[in-house]
Amino acid sequence: MSDCLFCRIVAGEIPATVVRESARTLAFRDVAPQAPVHVLVISRDHHPSIASLLDADESLALELMHEAREVAVAEGIADAGYRLVFNIGDDGGQTVHHVHLHVLGGASLGHVLV
Ligand code: AMP
Repeated sequence: MSDCLFCRIVAGEIPATVVRESARTLAFRDVAPQAPVHVLVISRDHHPSIASLLDADESLALELMHEAREVAVAEGIADAGYRLVFNIGDDGGQTVHHVHLHVLGGASLGHVLV
């Protein structure tokens, strides 16, 4: 989708700090980090959200989580712990409608979810 921000990052039209890649996924640093480590893991193909991706390609949904775990290991936060977040839809706070998994860590994030 040419008007999708994350599709444009996948296409190389918008720069991003890529930390990990696979054939079907891409992981890059969030431009406005909300934790010392804040990486987004996305599918290369356009899917609007994790909710729709589960119907379209369940194995790809699972791959996003595997990739997120590998990002946490590579970033050195796996042992201390980290948070994975999928925002879904407007009330879920999703602003970019291309599926992405937030990997947050590098400090104690506490128990507050919103
Ligand atoms: P969400 O609110 O769950 O849709 O998350 C979208 C995330 O994308 C936010 O955390 C933004 O800071 C991040 N973001 C927006 N534009 C860019 C960009 N060009 N490169 C990296 N991250 C971005």
